[in-house]
Amino acid sequence: MSQHMNLLLPSFETDKEEYDERKTTDHGGIGGSVWRFKGNKAAKEAASVSMKGTLARLFDCCSKDVKKTILPLGHGDPSVYPCFQTSVDAEEAVVESLRSGAANSYAPGVGILPARRAVANYLNRDLPHKIHSDDIFMTVGCCQGIETMIHALAGPKANILLPTLIYPLYNSHAIHSLVEIRKYNLLPDLDWEIDLQGVEAMADENTIAVVIMNPHNPCGNVYTYEHLKKVAEVARKLGIMVISDEVYNQTIYGENKFVPMGIFSSITPVVTLGSISKGWLVPGWRIGWIAMNDPKNVFKTTRVVESIKEHLDISPDPSTILQFALPNILEKTKKEFFEKNNSILSQNVDFAFDALKDIPCLTCPKKPESCTYLVTKLDLSLLEDITNDFDFCMKLAQEENLVFLPGEVLGLKNWVRFSIGVERSMLEDAFMRLKGFFARHTKTQLT
Ligand SMILES: *Cc1c(COP(=O)(O)O)cnc(C)c1O
Repeated sequence: MSQHMNLLLPSFETDKEEYDERKTTDHGGIGGSVWRFKGNKAAKEAASVSMKGTLARLFDCCSKDVKKTILPLGHGDPSVYPCFQTSVDAEEAVVESLRSGAANSYAPGVGILPARRAVANYLNRDLPHKIHSDDIFMTVGCCQGIETMIHALAGPKANILLPTLIYPLYNSHAIHSLVEIRKYNLLPDLDWEIDLQGVEAMADENTIAVVIMNPHNPCGNVYTYEHLKKVAEVARKLGIMVISDEVYNQTIYGENKFVPMGIFSSITPVVTLGSISKGWLVPGWRIGWIAMNDPKNVFKTTRVVESIKEHLDISPDPSTILQFALPNILEKTKKEFFEKNNSILSQNVDFAFDALKDIPCLTCPKKPESCTYLVTKLDLSLLEDITNDFDFCMKLAQEENLVFLPGEVLGLKNWVRFSIGVERSMLEDAFMRLKGFFARHTKTQLT
């Protein structure tokens, strides 16, 4: 049992004694042989690449003896910090939904009409080919959108094109659904653009989709109109759809304007995945959507729509209370709310980007303009006794109670990611500790 069960605000508090007591009773003989049941191993490999598993291991490296608070910068959930609270308008919308008494019943598998209509309206603000409420499916956060799309497209020999740096849940579901993963590169020196030649080279007749993240978590770039158009053209040439994860479309503080992939749906069909988790700072509310941008009805003729519906019919739905509240959340939240959050993030990025100059072993190729992370390349040649990104993060946790995420989990070995969606004081503290850590592990100069 991990001593840090709550990944969000890990502390040294635990209910461990209770668990220890319970463990000693009724263990069913040697090896538990009395019992005929045991846990299924099917998800083992899929879960082993998940972020939660790695973070739990890193938190377990932290120790009271270090006499420092745990700084959990390995994952991002800004909503736990006082400076990142959701909008009052969104809270009111949920209260109103709850009190109305109209949201106590089951919802249809695809979601309730007012929610689907509200998402269509919200997305249509930026789309030339208007989507309809029928093109929207409500999901339990964007996570269920990922799961649903991969399950809906899976089949014998299927493969899917994923970026090397990715939200790891895509890998987990692909593994779980026996869909082969083919990884395309992102080019750090070209604003993390997609290596489109690579994409073209690795696709074949069994490729079901190319997945892109825009804005890109964790790289923090926002793709240009021109680049996205090229993505659509390559997909068209290959005869595949684009799945565009746009969960961070409200979290943008740089120069590049966000362009929804759906704009290019006349070139190739596009599935957009979204949710309110990141933009509204409410990942615990668990509501998101799948949007079909498909003016030529390709998804109908290929049975993709049917397959999504079938999958949703046998999956849990997002709470009706949240579905009922969604129109007001999307329509009534003021732009000042997003501006304030983005301004804090932008200042945090400026601070951290600058502070990295004092930590030569970590370099960030491009200052992020969206999302809540810094992705840095780890230069092992400057360090004495660190073997890789995982080792770096383990020792950082052991010696400083500072948790960063090894890039390996996201697909890039010897990179390190940390969150800037935290209180400013935590970032300052983190860099103090990093400096000490670097000083202790830096290679002594050979003259
Ligand atoms: C957080 C995140 C998700 C999951 O979103 P939820 O709405 O919390 O389920 C999916 N994709 C990316 C890129 C994310 O960062």
